[in-house]
Amino acid sequence: MRVLIVEDDERIVSFLAKGLRAEGYATLVARDGEEAMSLAATEGAGLDVVLLDLGLPGPDGRAVLRELRARFPALPILILTARDDVDSKVEGLDAGAADYMTKPFHFDELLARIRAALRARDQTTSSMLVVGDLRLDLLSKVAWRGDRRIDLAPREWALLELLMRHPHQVLSRARILDRVWEYDFDPGSNIVDVYVGYLRRKLNAPGCPPLLQTVRGAGYRLLPPEPAVER
Ligand code: CA
Repeated sequence: MRVLIVEDDERIVSFLAKGLRAEGYATLVARDGEEAMSLAATEGAGLDVVLLDLGLPGPDGRAVLRELRARFPALPILILTARDDVDSKVEGLDAGAADYMTKPFHFDELLARIRAALRARDQTTSSMLVVGDLRLDLLSKVAWRGDRRIDLAPREWALLELLMRHPHQVLSRARILDRVWEYDFDPGSNIVDVYVGYLRRKLNAPGCPPLLQTVRGAGYRLLPPEPAVER
């Protein structure tokens, strides 16, 4: 993982660089806006995260943010600045920053936010969910089991996507209701069971093991079939 530190305060640069390297990150440093832009131009594609100060000599952090955002839309940029007014935070986040932290900061919290930004990046850049022989193409909104294409209604899609994002986990009816229907449904409603039934009929096929398991009293889970054992 490569982190670009854009910061003009030498003490903060050395604190960040040292701490990040100790955590296994590779670091690059730009000490003003100009250097940040030119480093991004040569190294941009190989960067995983940018830590960006706003108050910089030359083009300031906001200009760097706009430039990086336009050239590398998936690159997470965390603003790390002394500016703690709400307007600066709103402006930074609206301009596409993944996160905003104010100085002074706790290094452990910064690390956690870097990890969170990386997770978010990985989720948005991967457009395919795969569990066993089941595939969901999140961009084209097409589902497949093996080479059979499956047409799903929007709620069925949302339910299957939720289950596929948590394979092996038991999801309670309440959680499914909350995530798929997104409003307070009568907890006594059997709508989840009804939709699980619809999904089962669409997913099951002769000769294919069932994927959707009912866990009595707990909820449902998606279990990928065991890989076939070669004999
Ligand atoms: Ca500064």
